Amino acid sequence: MKAVVLTAPDEVAVVDDRPEPSCGPRDVVVAVHGVGLCGSDLAVVAGHRPVPALPWVLGHEAFGVVAAAGEEVADRFPGQRVVVEPNYPCLACPSCRTGATAGCPNRRAAGITDPGLLAERVAVPARFTWPVPDSWDDADAVCVEPLTVALNAVRMSGLAAGDRCLVVGAGSQGLLVTLAVAHAGGVPFIVEPHEGRRALAVELGARDAAGDASATAFPAVIETSGAPEAFEEALERTAPGGTLIAVGQSVRPARLSTFSLVQRRLTVRGCLIYDHPADFPRTIATLAGHDLRPGRILRERFDLADAPKAFARAAETAGKTWISMPRGGTTPHASRADSVGASVTRTEETPS
Ligand SMILES: [Zn+2]
Ligand SMILES: [Zn+2]
Repeated sequence: MKAVVLTAPDEVAVVDDRPEPSCGPRDVVVAVHGVGLCGSDLAVVAGHRPVPALPWVLGHEAFGVVAAAGEEVADRFPGQRVVVEPNYPCLACPSCRTGATAGCPNRRAAGITDPGLLAERVAVPARFTWPVPDSWDDADAVCVEPLTVALNAVRMSGLAAGDRCLVVGAGSQGLLVTLAVAHAGGVPFIVEPHEGRRALAVELGARDAAGDASATAFPAVIETSGAPEAFEEALERTAPGGTLIAVGQSVRPARLSTFSLVQRRLTVRGCLIYDHPADFPRTIATLAGHDLRPGRILRERFDLADAPKAFARAAETAGKTWISMPRGGTTPHASRADSVGASVTRTEETPS
């Protein structure tokens, strides 16, 4: 079976010697159709996020079709189209028992602590797969996971309809936050130094905060870049009594004066992924009932064979990069036989 692995820092390879996944009683095997790349994948590739072993299967933002279901699984069946929720909390610790599963100290994550999803087939706990309609574009299906983070960040910000919200950073998370702000009835503004990314955010409905003199003192600010300097600017531009949500992260410290924090009565909150089982179904319902189309943030699609190129280019590309997988059928044998040397051609790719 083929998979995309990290063999050494900054060395990504496509291999075809991976064993077929074994399906536990509560697992499903998913024939993966597409995987989006994001900053945390790039951090793994660069060696900034240590992984348990090399070679390491990469990727976590996946959708596909159920190929097999374990004997205790009653509500997933072969042929069903699903997205994967790639963070697996223990569901037993105090944090999990309050519903705040993002804070689970035992949480496992595909592509980080557990092998990733950039493989032809992967075994996933069935309850961490969520059915999505066959009618959805691949581009929208591949964005469900990062969009769930974006919707969570906007909800945490307390943004009300009509509020202006500053989105700091227009990487794929910033672009999805921009869409989520508009969906919540807010008015998104963007700060982004990369011209192509900024232009894409504006195309998706954001106003350029740098070019807008009235764009100061935002009641809600969402920092997505992770750069400490950007966090400092985000803090500066939060209105008195306002809320700053940090989504991007860095181990480098940012300066924050308690005088400013207290005098301006700011709320600063970290937003870490999403909670299980509440948030994925909420995202899917949002997508089903609204013309949000998160797939609009995708700009470059690569075939599995070109995965190393996808990783090499993703950091510089405006818009999200994703990899589409060969599609041979929903059973391991059919997939295996049909997928060799062929891939389904899709047309979402747009030069950036
Ligand atoms: Zn991600
Ligand atoms: Zn837990």
